[in-house]
Amino acid sequence: MTIESSTQAAYLVAALLFILALAALSKHETAKAGNNYGIAGMAIALLATIALAIDRGIDAIGLILLGIAMVVGGAIGLWRARVVEMTGMPELIAILHSFVGLAAVLVGWSGYLQVEGGSDPIEVAHLISQGTLGIHHAEVFIGVFIGAVTFTGSIVAFGKLSGRMNTNPMVLPGKNLLNIGALVAFVALTVWFCISPTIWLLIAVTIVALALGWHLVASIGGGDMPVVVSMLNSYSGWAAAASGFLLENDLLIITGALVGSSGAYLSYIMCRAMNRSFISVIAGGFGIEAGPSQDTDYGDHREVSAEQVAELLRSAKSVIITPGYGMAVAQAQYGVAELTRKLRDNGTTVRFGIHPVAGRLPGHMNVLLAEAKVPYDVVLEMDEINNDFTDIDVVLVIGANDTVNPAAETDPSSPIAGMPVLRVWNANDVIIFKRSMASGYAGVQNPLFFRENSAMLFGDAKDRVEDILKAL
Ligand code: NDP
Repeated sequence: MTIESSTQAAYLVAALLFILALAALSKHETAKAGNNYGIAGMAIALLATIALAIDRGIDAIGLILLGIAMVVGGAIGLWRARVVEMTGMPELIAILHSFVGLAAVLVGWSGYLQVEGGSDPIEVAHLISQGTLGIHHAEVFIGVFIGAVTFTGSIVAFGKLSGRMNTNPMVLPGKNLLNIGALVAFVALTVWFCISPTIWLLIAVTIVALALGWHLVASIGGGDMPVVVSMLNSYSGWAAAASGFLLENDLLIITGALVGSSGAYLSYIMCRAMNRSFISVIAGGFGIEAGPSQDTDYGDHREVSAEQVAELLRSAKSVIITPGYGMAVAQAQYGVAELTRKLRDNGTTVRFGIHPVAGRLPGHMNVLLAEAKVPYDVVLEMDEINNDFTDIDVVLVIGANDTVNPAAETDPSSPIAGMPVLRVWNANDVIIFKRSMASGYAGVQNPLFFRENSAMLFGDAKDRVEDILKAL
């Protein structure tokens, strides 16, 4: 068996492992195994690619560069993965997507310089003899376009998620026309490039795509960011697939298509959960106008102490806890798990209501609660619990804000209008754990805090939960 054919066999095994990984990652019980399949697939893919490069006669300098790139990249990857906090995962994922986009741009440009630029006459002669030179032009152009959109889009997503950029949607005059104009320009330039592949056209499409990626994500408001992250995941997959075509690497095409399609499907599911139009989000908030200025006066809020909350909980028969991003920041899940145990021992029914986009990544709250050993059967999805709040004595809103904002249902001009929310306000008493009256991720004021049956328990969620535990 030649190295060439062994590599193809190894690629097939790696592709199967990636498919198994995706399937296993969709369930709690098999998620760890899914990770292992993915790691094994990637290790096989890397080894096979290095073997192929050696077989195809990579020179010593190339091999040294490959080694350096792998050691440096691997070390940075390991270090980041070890130190990243759960709450920092989305921004890490966003910045990793930007690398995939940048890689696709560089692969596209290198393909251009090799073939259209004429630096590799053997490859040019090979493509001409196969009659696929025109296809190469299209691959270069499309790869650079998708890669550049993914690159800047992911950088903006990273900026917004890490708080380095304003999360409010940027509204340029005629923003929809700008997006459509950029797409029309891309189609026209592609046709032109396939007829006459000059470097200026490639420079032009790179600039248009960089600007489009930036604008698409900058135009999207805070509440829609979860969809954007999974959408950029999808784009990064298509960018990798485009590179796969250029490099004639089947595994990269398969892997890119897997990431591209699963990311697109996840975006679609999240859009449905948030009552958002998929097309409007991928088109950079097409048709979504900016919300009103946030100066509505909702009246005064009421404060409570941890001791008063403990008193309330002692007499409550039924409690629902709705956790959000603040629980993750405070790492309050262990205290919350302990509180759940105490209340259940006291005969109180305790359940959790989990919003599909609570926290900063899909499944964020489920992971934290599982980590703190809260039993799965009391952790319910929003749809399973949303009609039950009317019969509940006390709701503890622990570090959640946008996901419990009634304005989503009552104020059509709100930036989060139409997003389904947990109807916590229907309970007898609502206790909101947070540090101040600041707004949540979407930057929208929350009228829940000013309702008669609501009371604020200010401070770090972990400290306040511990205070309640002491008082109980
Ligand atoms: P929010 O981001 O709306 O609000 C979190 C609240 O937690 C804030 O109001 C903050 O108030 C409070 N908080 C922060 N730190 C602490 C602390 N140490 N102790 C107590 N409270 C704290 O959270 P939600 O989970 O309700 O909503 C998630 C938002 O994030 C949605 O807008 C969603 O669209 C978006 N998003 C979700 C993603 C996902 O995939 N799940 C990805 C990207 C964005 P204060 O500062 O006053 O303490």
